[in-house]
Amino acid sequence: MTNDLTIDDDWNALYIDGDWVSSEEGESLAVEDPSTREVVAEVPSATEADVDAAYESAVAAQEKWGEQLPAQRQAVIQQLMEAVDEHSDEIVELLTEEVGGTHVMGHTSIHIANDHAGEAATLPRRMKGEHADSNIPGKENLLKRGPKGVVTVISPWNFPLNLSMRAVAPAIAAGNSVVLKPSTNSPITGGLLFGKLFEETDLPDGVLNIVTGRGSEIGDSIASHPESDVVSFTGSTEVGQHVAGLAGENLAVPAMELGGNNAFIVTRDADLDNALDAATFASFVHQGQVCISINRHIVHEDIYDEYVERLTERAEELITGSAHKPDTDVGPIIDESQRDEMLEYVESTIEAGATLETGGEIVNIDDVDDSLVVAPTVLSDVTNEMSAACNEHFGPIAPVIPFSDVDEAVEIANDTEYGLSGAVHADDLAVAKDIAERMETGNVHINDQPINDEAHVPFSGIGASGMGSYNSDAFLHEITETKWISIQHEPRDYSL
Ligand code: NAD
Repeated sequence: MTNDLTIDDDWNALYIDGDWVSSEEGESLAVEDPSTREVVAEVPSATEADVDAAYESAVAAQEKWGEQLPAQRQAVIQQLMEAVDEHSDEIVELLTEEVGGTHVMGHTSIHIANDHAGEAATLPRRMKGEHADSNIPGKENLLKRGPKGVVTVISPWNFPLNLSMRAVAPAIAAGNSVVLKPSTNSPITGGLLFGKLFEETDLPDGVLNIVTGRGSEIGDSIASHPESDVVSFTGSTEVGQHVAGLAGENLAVPAMELGGNNAFIVTRDADLDNALDAATFASFVHQGQVCISINRHIVHEDIYDEYVERLTERAEELITGSAHKPDTDVGPIIDESQRDEMLEYVESTIEAGATLETGGEIVNIDDVDDSLVVAPTVLSDVTNEMSAACNEHFGPIAPVIPFSDVDEAVEIANDTEYGLSGAVHADDLAVAKDIAERMETGNVHINDQPINDEAHVPFSGIGASGMGSYNSDAFLHEITETKWISIQHEPRDYSL
């Protein structure tokens, strides 16, 4: 039976042990559509008792699930992909209603989510063991790979569908059970939706459990839960550090993908048309609310004025407004606090001496009180110390910093605690590769932009951007463990 997945469904229930249940205390949280500012749904505000129930269910279901044949686990993930495909239009709509995702954001989310599920579906058949020769005569060493147990997934609101998917699907495929806690800004598309989608598969009850609620209320009890074996967290560096500490105290593996401050370096000989296409996309898609968006444009002084002028023209051409309109390029910011913080970064950057080329203001929408849409913003004469450059602004803001030689460009790019993604544009590929190798970041893309994620390619942040890797074998190793089994085939010399 297939579900009907609209925002008007009843989302006010937790998903525990295959059932939709009320939160223990019956409290709920409102979900606001960022385009219209109207409350469109209610979800449960879980308690610590609900969290315990979710882990109890996950523990009870895991062993049997881990013993299922690889083909059976693979089939469930393939069914999940079919469910995502079948409901793709509804999911795009939900992303618009819940997080203000434009059409491009929604369709990209579906594509990346199913890329992750497709990769996860291959994992059950790739969980191979090893044989290691022994230095002890007559001994055989076997290394068997198996699931860790219970994987906790804590996800952010910005790309909720695929950021939950990249942890949930591989964890389940590898034979673990999961407790999923989405952000309070995306409890449906980052959380409860997965319950509905997996209901259309043969996943046994209890393997996936979903609790919604405020991080400040139930976050600590999830991150430190004694039944959790891995804590897969995607979110801000500040919260991630706290969560990793709680996970570590409990000896659960902390798998952390955190914030970024991504540099986009454009050298003197770069193809400017190509660079500007990439720059416009990666500064403004999904309102700049991507962990791997361009945070800083670092541009050679000889082409600086032309670059600023043309980027400004492009920013002004973008269509702003409600994400419900199919032609909108730049929709609303997720909430007021996020909007106001980024506008403060813009203001203090201007006060510090930067020039506002365009934007820097709220775009009013008819019939919407206190619009969350911010005009695409370009700032020139920026230095790396100014607040729009040194903070992860997470908005449609393009601070442009000049440089005079490659060493200086690399120095500016690396002058941040973060190390998530980046990009470099240069006609000379040797120069580009040299810069890419010197950029202290987990991912870097030449003659492209920094927003890339391919499920079969490891994705990691370094420094304050994370610990561990997502995707493919890199994540498989975090959610599985190897067990050494040795067989002594002939009597061993035990003389003391
Ligand atoms: P956030 O850190 O505020 O929240 C992330 C998650 O943590 C949410 O589910 C939240 O409810 C939960 N949480 C909050 N307090 C908690 C606690 N004490 N214990 C456990 N969980 C708690 O981040 P956000 O605002 O949702 O997302 C934006 C941030 O995520 C940005 O910094 C962005 O760069 C980062 N991000 C990183 C990646 C990546 O791959 N590196 C991808 C997307 C987003």
